Amino acid sequence: MGDRRRLAAAFLALLLPALPVQAQSWSTVQGPTPGPARVIGTTGLGCIAGAVELASEGPGYQVVRLSRNRNWGHPELIRFVQSFAARSGQDLWIGDLGQPRGGPMPYGHASHQAGIDVDIWLDLRRKPAMTRAARENISETSLVLRDQSAVDPARFTEAHARLIRQAAETPGVERIFVNHGIKRSLCAMHRGEPWLRLVRPWFGHDAHMHVRLRCPAGSPDCRPGPVIPAGDGCDAGLDWWMSEDARRPRPRPPGPRPQLPAACAAVLRAN
Ligand SMILES: [Zn+2]
Repeated sequence: MGDRRRLAAAFLALLLPALPVQAQSWSTVQGPTPGPARVIGTTGLGCIAGAVELASEGPGYQVVRLSRNRNWGHPELIRFVQSFAARSGQDLWIGDLGQPRGGPMPYGHASHQAGIDVDIWLDLRRKPAMTRAARENISETSLVLRDQSAVDPARFTEAHARLIRQAAETPGVERIFVNHGIKRSLCAMHRGEPWLRLVRPWFGHDAHMHVRLRCPAGSPDCRPGPVIPAGDGCDAGLDWWMSEDARRPRPRPPGPRPQLPAACAAVLRAN
């Protein structure tokens, strides 16, 4: 290694945040801790004991990218996915849930850490049963226009809206993230309907919805997300997503990097 490359490598090491190293240790644990399921912390900074695995396929669904080993979650999340898929009348692709013990991931998500998040793809085409290997390489197709102002009417149909509504109306669901362009179109199609309140605008999420459950019973250390304001969310707050400000990169808040709850250290170490 030349001097310049060595210097560059040292510089890069300085730039690397502590998180990926930590995330690496959570992503290499192959199985859950035994015992009752317990969510600890938040979905953005948390973990789970006693997680269970979602079967790789079942009525109405097939899990994609199983090699990531992110098809784990709280038993309530597993039950939600299975019953939702079975009554959806669709062939759903199920994306990431969480790791066997939750925790941060080395790539792909900031949340999904506490076993109560799942990505459900908004791909409603009929699908053949596919092998696990074939399911590794399926690509997502965006349903949103390039300028993200709305859905692409050639791709997004009332059936997509129905699926999102079905999820939002399922007891135990806390919120659903979709691209702000999808939310804008849902507002145009269904303004004032109460289920829209749970459908929150976010970046990305133009090909899948991200469903988050409420803190399950028996998890006193689970911390819920911020309270969702009253109303359908079809307001000026939604227009912000189209602004210059929304496109500016967010600086990390000052102060020390937030730490996982102390109880998660024991979850990571447990045999
Ligand atoms: Zn997600």
